[in-house]
Amino acid sequence: MKNFWRVLLVGILVVYIILTADVASYILGLRPDAYLLPFHYQQTKDYENKFKIETASICSQIKHRYNEKECATIRPIVVWVSFFEKIEKIAAWTFPFHKSIYLSKKLIDNFTESELKFALAHEIWHQLANSSDEFLADRFAAEMISADSGISFYGRIPKIYGIEFNWYLKLKIKKLEEFKAQQKISSGS
Ligand SMILES: [Zn+2]
Repeated sequence: MKNFWRVLLVGILVVYIILTADVASYILGLRPDAYLLPFHYQQTKDYENKFKIETASICSQIKHRYNEKECATIRPIVVWVSFFEKIEKIAAWTFPFHKSIYLSKKLIDNFTESELKFALAHEIWHQLANSSDEFLADRFAAEMISADSGISFYGRIPKIYGIEFNWYLKLKIKKLEEFKAQQKISSGS
């Protein structure tokens, strides 16, 4: 019985340390699951290099609208396990305290190339505009990548994250459809 309590106590302590590290890393802009890095080092670096190239490509298209220098300092971090993702069911996220953008392994595994680019561009906008406006972030991503990639991205989220196809996702898709129609009119096709 004594052993049971000891194991329980150690278990609680381990969960507490991991949770604290998870929260602290988001405040500091660090990798929340650094303890896993030795097991997935090369793959993580390969994914992050790909996102870095994609970030540079998006940054090269923002001339005169946002700060290009600031854009170049944005750092994509691939996260294998995060309590934040598990609880919030969010595939990609960022915070205003630093220039890190978090993209989950689950996102990489389940979404297409263009959907991934859309998610990245969306987070880049949050950083550049220093705003949490979701619809403007989507609009920017639609301009940089395509409205269709955003529509399929949000359409796929309920199944992958086991959540309901809620009003918020529907509204996001509706806004992207509207933007797509506007784009068509302005390009004269
Ligand atoms: Zn957002």
